[in-house]
Formats: sequence, C-alpha cells, structure tokens
Amino acid sequence: MLHMSNPLLDFSDLPLFDQIQPEHVAPAIDALLQESDAALETVTAPDFPADWTAIAKVLDVTTEKFGRAWGAVSHLNSVADTPELRAAYNAALPRVTEFWTRLGSDERLYAKYKAIDPSTLNPEQRQAHKNALRNFVLGGAELQGAAKERYAQIQERQAELTQKFSENALDATDAFAYYATEAELDGLPEDVKQSARAAAQKEEKDGYKLTLKMPSYLPVMQFAKSSALRHTLYRAYVTRASDQAEGEAAKFDNSALIRDILALRQEEAQLLGYLNFGQVSVVPKMAESPEQVVRFLRDLAQKARPYAEQDLVDLRTFAREQLSIADPQPWDWPYISEKLKEARYAFSEQEVKQYFTAPRVLAGLFKIVETLFEVSIRRDAVPVWHPAVEFYRIERGNELVGQFYLDQPARNGKRGGAWMDDVRARWLRPDTGRLQTPVAHLVCNFADGVDGKPALLTHDDVITLFHEFGHGLHHMLTQVNERDVSGISGVEWDAVELPSQFMENFCWEWDVLKHMTAHVDTGEPLPRGLYDKMMAAKNFQSGMQTLRQIEFALFDMLLHTEHDPAQDFMPLLDLVRSEVAVLQPPAWSRTAHTFSHIFAGGYAAGYYSYKWAEVLSADAYAAFEETVGKDGLPSVQTGRQYRQAILEAGGSRPAIESFKAFRGREPSLDALLRHQGMA
Ligand SMILES: [Zn+2]
Repeated sequence: MLHMSNPLLDFSDLPLFDQIQPEHVAPAIDALLQESDAALETVTAPDFPADWTAIAKVLDVTTEKFGRAWGAVSHLNSVADTPELRAAYNAALPRVTEFWTRLGSDERLYAKYKAIDPSTLNPEQRQAHKNALRNFVLGGAELQGAAKERYAQIQERQAELTQKFSENALDATDAFAYYATEAELDGLPEDVKQSARAAAQKEEKDGYKLTLKMPSYLPVMQFAKSSALRHTLYRAYVTRASDQAEGEAAKFDNSALIRDILALRQEEAQLLGYLNFGQVSVVPKMAESPEQVVRFLRDLAQKARPYAEQDLVDLRTFAREQLSIADPQPWDWPYISEKLKEARYAFSEQEVKQYFTAPRVLAGLFKIVETLFEVSIRRDAVPVWHPAVEFYRIERGNELVGQFYLDQPARNGKRGGAWMDDVRARWLRPDTGRLQTPVAHLVCNFADGVDGKPALLTHDDVITLFHEFGHGLHHMLTQVNERDVSGISGVEWDAVELPSQFMENFCWEWDVLKHMTAHVDTGEPLPRGLYDKMMAAKNFQSGMQTLRQIEFALFDMLLHTEHDPAQDFMPLLDLVRSEVAVLQPPAWSRTAHTFSHIFAGGYAAGYYSYKWAEVLSADAYAAFEETVGKDGLPSVQTGRQYRQAILEAGGSRPAIESFKAFRGREPSLDALLRHQGMA
C-alpha cells in the first residue's frame, strides 16, 4: 500500500513530478534500499548462477528503480530547490551514496561477475561486462578490511562535501542583489532593464534589481557604461563562495571544502594503487595518461598563443584610442570586448537577439534533427515540476524512439548553467522482455520573455541549446539494448562531448539560421548582412578563449596530479595563469571556488575533455562540410552514417572505434584549428 501512496515508488512510466513532495523522499529511499539490499543478497548467494541475464533480472531491475527514484529527487533538488527538499535530499544522500559505493565494491558480486563466461555474452553485453569489471576495481572491490572501509567512508564524505560545495555556490549566487538607479544602468539593453525593474517591483523595492545570474550579470559586464557598477558586480561574482567574499556572503566560503575534497581524492587514488587522482581519472577515458593530456593542452596552447596575444593588443589599442581607457581593469575587458566587436563588425549581441525568439529557435532545431536523423518530434503533456516545462516525443515512423523534458527559463532555486541528464535509459528489460525507451532532461537557464513577448535568446544561448540537445540525441537515438552501454552510458568521459559540440556547428550555417530566426516585432528572418557580420565575428578572440579553456583544464589536471592537497592551491592557479593566460585577473579573484565542474561535477581531472572532444566533434562535422548539398543543407546520407556510427552505437564500443567507423581514419586537429580561425 505504501507503494500506491508514494509517487516516488510508482515506476509504471514517467516520474510523477507534480506529486513528489519532500516527505516522500525518506520512505521511498528506505523501501528501495531494503529491496536493493535484498536483491544484492540474492544474486551473491553461493548457489546463484554466474549468469549475466539472471543477475540482471534480479539486481539490475531493482537498482534501476532505485536509480530512477533518486534521479527524480536529485533532479528536483537541482531545478526546484526548497529548504524542505534540500533537507530531505541531504538526509538521504549519505545512505544512497553508501549503497552505491558498497554495491560497486562488493567482493561477492565482483567474484560473480568475474565468473561469467564472456563467450555466453553478445557484443553489447561483453562491453558492459568489461566496463563492470573495470568499475569494480576502481570502486575498491579488490580492497580488503580497513582499506575497504576507509574507501567507503571517503566516498560518502566526498558526496557530502561536493553537495555542500554546490549549495554554497548556489546560495552565494542567490544571496547577492544590487539595486541600481536608472542612471547607473546607462548603456544597458532595454529588455534587461525591464527585467531588472520587474524584479525590484516584485519585492516592492525602488530601482533595478541586478543579480549574479547570467541573464543579469553578463549584460551588465558587457554593456553598462559605469565602470563602478561593473566593478561592484564583478567583485561579487569572482569572489563568490570564497574567503574574499564580503559581508554576509562570507559564510559560503568553499576554501576548506576544496582542500578536503582534494585530500580525499588523493587518498582514494593511493588506496587504489595510483600515485594521484589524475591517474585514476584517465583509466576509463580515451586519453592514456595525465601526461598525454598535459602535452595535448600545452601543444594547443602554443598554437593558440600568437592569436591570443594579438587579441589582447587589439583590445588595448581600441580601449586607449576609442574609449579613452588607458589602463583597463579586469571588469573593463568584457565591456571593451563588446565595444570592439560592435565597432569592428558593426552589430551587437542585442541586435542579434531580436531574431532569436525561443519558439522559433526550437522549431528550427527540431527541423534539423528531424531531417538529418530521420525522426519526428511532437509535443506531449505529462506531469512536470513547473508550468514552464515542456515535454516532447521523438518518433520514427510510428515507433517511439525517446522522450524529453525541456526546462528553459532561469529562476530562483534552479541551479545555473545548462545540462542534459537521463531519466531512464534504453534497455531491453530482462524482467519483462520489453524494450524500455530512453527519456532525457534538457535544462537551460534562459531569460524570460518580457511584456508577453517570447523569450529572446542570445546566439550563445542558441549554441547552448544545440549543445545540450546533442547530448540528448546521444542518449535518445541509441539503438543499443544493453542499459549500461546504451546512449551516453559507458561512453568515455572525454569523448562524451562529441555529439554535443558537434551540434553547435549548425548554429553557424546560413541555410540553417535563416529558417530558425524571426524578429520579435517584425517576424523578419535574420538578414544576410547581419549573418555575414556574425560570421566575421565568429572567431573574435578565439585565441584568448582557447587559452582560457586550456587554463581551466591545465589547472584541473595539475591540481589532481602535481599538487599537494595540504597546500593552498592558489599558487598553482597563479602559476598556470602565468604560463597560459595573456590576461591576469586581480589577486582577490577566486573563480576556482565556484568551479563546480571539478569540485561538484564529474569533471575532476577531466575538464580537458571539452577540448579533447572538440577535436573529435570538429573533425566529425568536417564530414558534413565535405558533403553539403546544393541547397546548402547537410547531407541526409552523411547524417545517417553519423547517426549509425556515433549516436546509435553509444557506449557499446570504444569511442575511437565509433569515430573511425564514421571517418575511416584517426581524428586530426586540423578541422578544429580551421573552424576557429587559427590555421
Ligand atoms: Zn556538454
């Protein structure tokens, strides 16, 4: 009966997001933990057969429910955070982590998997089996006694600390507000002003409410003429969740958390027999060693450096000659950049934005996907967590291929950034013998529409949407039937950005853009003249931007290989900056303190993956450039080859094999450098 009344325990189809309440969390987790423990005991009993399907029928079927229920809770924690939900989530988190850690290191289960005869498995199962054995080793299954216990403690502690890190980053961002006067907002776009005014009015305050959320922060940095205003927001932004934060915000300091997280990772690596966490991180990846990664980053940095230096010279000259800024400060650079871009290419992001209304962009995105990957996308209605959330079905012929939730607007209680997450994976279920179709979350943080008009997206927003949709396609178009290697499951982390970054390329194609733009007031598509300017500006400062990504990636890898966690990490960051960056931030800048990718996400010693995969995605996209039709549209034939070799294969084989199946050769750096104007 408990199952009937607790929406988290309803697995008949999609999660009942409209019914899930904080008080459902604890009883659901209790029940699922108990069931999962029982399943683990059953399959590890001495007389239980060492048989892939037999184990899956009992254990995977049970733990998958657990994963889906917890997935729903943690999703709500990310997009609809409330104090009650956060408390329920945090109360359950240690037990959830403890279970997965225990499952991943259970010697009996490891022995059972080792005893499975690979010749009884199909190729997908064989890959999943291989991954499972590797994950057992990385999960501590070969550890004994005290070392094993310590390993489990480390996992639980890490989960708590990284959750706290995220909370601090979110709370520090949410806590800040600056109520500006009309005069201070000189230079700011009208829609940003209106949103700021509306936000202040909602709180019955005078003036304009500015925040550190992207739709507010970024336009201030780019457009506000007042250097003092930019300074105020910049200072608050780059000191978020750090020892340099001022006043009330000081309580969100992540310094100690970072130190502890790094120390735990180092200890974990040593328990597993590695020198450092960087080595652990690359085991399941495409890269062969941290050294190979560092060489790759330094090689790319060297190629980008002359372009970055020229970018900086251009900025300084323009600031001095056109803006009378003789000595630009860190909070002046985005403003100078925007002004130089306007002067050089005679358009602004603001002008471009008027053509990218959210519904039109979405329709354009769907059109490409439908044509290229031979599917259709239809709106559907299911229970959601917020009225702004949309839901869609992807079909081929009459067959359901996958479904996804789309949550676009930014709001309080919603974690910043954009991401794809899985709700459930494609799986030929061993219990029912029926095919389970994949479901995804696509989450963005776009500005809302103003005055009843549709939301306007910046071109960067459009790229973000395409990017996340690329992850979604990888998850949803898979044809693999084995859950742990279907879609993005089992794909090497440093290859996982291939399909997402691949999709970004379409945001630069004229024949694509003209179909997915309509001016918010006139309905006119993007004018060709404006597009030409955007293209000319495409690689504006690509040298500096490349170095910035390399700075993050190199810092991350060195932090997890050469750095002693007991020491302050700021000197390492300074060292990396002096090696890589052409612009030095102020001494009080603490951007690492909100570097959630590596301290609260899965990118620890893995941030390089973005650049690594960009090489793959640029090279894959080059195949479309080589086969583009007379109408300027991408070849459906190439689309099919790409879909089959990369998207449908998912994690069922090493990424390098999928890449070679599509391209017929090893990846090359050329396409990336060419796309970014550095050839
Ligand atoms: Zn991504």
